[in-house]
Amino acid sequence: MNEYDSARLAAVLELHGLIPAIIEKADVILVNTCSVRAKAEENAIARIKGLKRFKIENEKLKIGILGCMAKNRGESLFKDLPFIDFILAPDEYQKLPEILHPTPYFPLPAFQEFAKLTNNHSAFIAIQSGCNMRCSYCIVPYVRGREQYRESGSVLQEIEEAVAKGVSEFTLLGQTVNGYRFKGLSFAGLLRQVADTKGVERIRFMSPHPKHYTGELMEILLSEPKIAPHVHLPVQSGSNSVLKKMRRQYTRENYLSIVEALRFSNPLYGITTDIICGYPGETEEEFEETLSLLQEAQFDSAFMFAYSPREGTPAASEKEFLNEEQKKARLQKTIDLQNSITLKRAKLMIGQSEKILLEKPSRKNPSEWVGKTGNFKKVVIDIGAIPHCSPGMYIDCVIEGVKGHTLRGKLSA
Ligand code: SAH
Ligand code: SF4
Repeated sequence: MNEYDSARLAAVLELHGLIPAIIEKADVILVNTCSVRAKAEENAIARIKGLKRFKIENEKLKIGILGCMAKNRGESLFKDLPFIDFILAPDEYQKLPEILHPTPYFPLPAFQEFAKLTNNHSAFIAIQSGCNMRCSYCIVPYVRGREQYRESGSVLQEIEEAVAKGVSEFTLLGQTVNGYRFKGLSFAGLLRQVADTKGVERIRFMSPHPKHYTGELMEILLSEPKIAPHVHLPVQSGSNSVLKKMRRQYTRENYLSIVEALRFSNPLYGITTDIICGYPGETEEEFEETLSLLQEAQFDSAFMFAYSPREGTPAASEKEFLNEEQKKARLQKTIDLQNSITLKRAKLMIGQSEKILLEKPSRKNPSEWVGKTGNFKKVVIDIGAIPHCSPGMYIDCVIEGVKGHTLRGKLSA
């Protein structure tokens, strides 16, 4: 989501005549921040402190803080970072041109004008902003506001424009993306329209919420070949009592039934997730249930986090019984288990024929390229026999082995 926002902001600046620069030469530096965990804010503040020296070298330089931390911490940021010039929360971005050019005032271009925000093979398309859920630990609804769904016509137009520029893979974005609805059109309905758009080859979406897995959605996921066989479906915990306290609105059993349906249709269906370890009051038994869920679900990979209290959220006022060390120990146990499962899932790919979307040449060896399978696994492949490789090309390969967590492929005969 932040990559998408940053690209949008970059496009706005370019529209107003600014051009990208190396940091030492820049007259404007915008830092797009995240607030989801305390660590994200700490990292952003450390990075911003490191920018102070450029201010000394270039007195014209303007430094602005954008994104969720701008909303969450607001004016108080000036206290810690007195050298910054301005702070803009996500709902204030229309003021950016005005801040950078004292006159005249340029309105922020409408969504449709952002089609160039793509690297030439794959594009993110936001279809939802904000979030109406109130997960007890989560700051997103406070910094991003109520849900808004984007008009389907504008979504399809952005996709068509990107296709015209050679993009073939699209990732639809939103915090509960599969809850999308617009004038009677459901998320499944929108997926159908995207899949029917000429030139669209691969469709992904992020992040869906388990409570919005309807029969209609399941049907299109399992029947439409353009929808990639991968889903990032955050579960957070394997314990029903913790899920309830988190207000996630599904049970372990609901969640696992989605996993089962996807893997029944395709045992190699890629399923990745997010886990929070050490939620306030999480007992040893409840934590063990997360480990057993990992075993049962056999995720292809996971983002795993120690619980981080976010001021203003309901969970932050609950008493924490675990100290940082104990939360980290649970996190480490989770990571160790998931690493072994990730490796096992990668090895299941050996011998498979896969269509790879090429992204870039490998850094170490220019005759090797990096790409992704439909189920979202990274593959390194020797393209020796292909004279002109470019990002965005699809090639057929056979998976030969696994190195680290990365698959190695060879061109199909
Ligand atoms: N909308 C998505 C998640 C967005 S936030 C969903 O509901 O699935 C991305 C991830 O950050 C979450 O899935 C969660 O695992 C993690 N996260 C959010 N708040 C957190 C907190 N307070 N402490 C630790 N991890 C958190
Ligand atoms: Fe946060 Fe829950 Fe909304 Fe995801 S669904 S962004 S975790 S409140």
